[in-house]
Amino acid sequence: MTVSPGVIVTMDGPAGTGKSSVAWKLAQRLGLEVLDTGAMYRAAAVVAIDEDVPADDGHALAARIAEEGLVFDWSCRPPRLLLGGRDLTERIRDADVNVVVSVVARQAPLRAALVDAQRIIGHAHPRLVTEGRDQGSVVFPDAAVRFYLDAHPEVRARRRVEQMRSQGRPADYEAVLRAIQQRDHLDETRVDGPLVCPMGAQRIDTSGLTLDHVVQELERCVRSCVSAELLAPPRAVQTA
Ligand code: C5P
Repeated sequence: MTVSPGVIVTMDGPAGTGKSSVAWKLAQRLGLEVLDTGAMYRAAAVVAIDEDVPADDGHALAARIAEEGLVFDWSCRPPRLLLGGRDLTERIRDADVNVVVSVVARQAPLRAALVDAQRIIGHAHPRLVTEGRDQGSVVFPDAAVRFYLDAHPEVRARRRVEQMRSQGRPADYEAVLRAIQQRDHLDETRVDGPLVCPMGAQRIDTSGLTLDHVVQELERCVRSCVSAELLAPPRAVQTA
């Protein structure tokens, strides 16, 4: 059996910087898989809400997740997320989950369990773009390339409002901005795995950039740091 050598690229940053879309496009261009670690914290928030576990009881949340088993189905693209066989892929995006998730993500015992789970996934899927809040700082500090994506809160709120309206959902700019600032505050001030730009990470401000520009810039950075044999070949530039 041949084993592909590993390439881990981490991508951290606050909500609304375009991390998920960038991670997917970048991974596609480089021939890597994607790990969405926010989905795992969202699954813990679903446990708190649907199974009546207090959102600030990290031990109980971690125990419930260990009992039920939280796994990605890697045969799907993007992978679907299953808890005890229940497919949570759509449920984790509901509005009530957004409200609870940053409280759940502050709980140290839960973070410890999910960090372990992410490292196990990284071992089984060593060719990975992994996105979240602590991937370059805590989970994979030795990753081949580490990025921190940022954007002004007002820009992030505008993007989120446009996204919600394009999905036919009502969106109030001021309320979305407040929610983003509140989530940033909770993520930045927790003791365990706070949202920080990891030391040595490349910081990209996406405020004035299109998605394609961000992806191109990140692809250029990865290709300049990682041996070409470990990556999918660059795509020819398309002409009209
Ligand atoms: O990325 P996403 O918005 O889905 O993440 C949801 C929440 O999960 C974040 O606001 C943050 O509180 C938490 N999170 C975290 N650490 C990660 C990924 C997400 O604390 N690695």
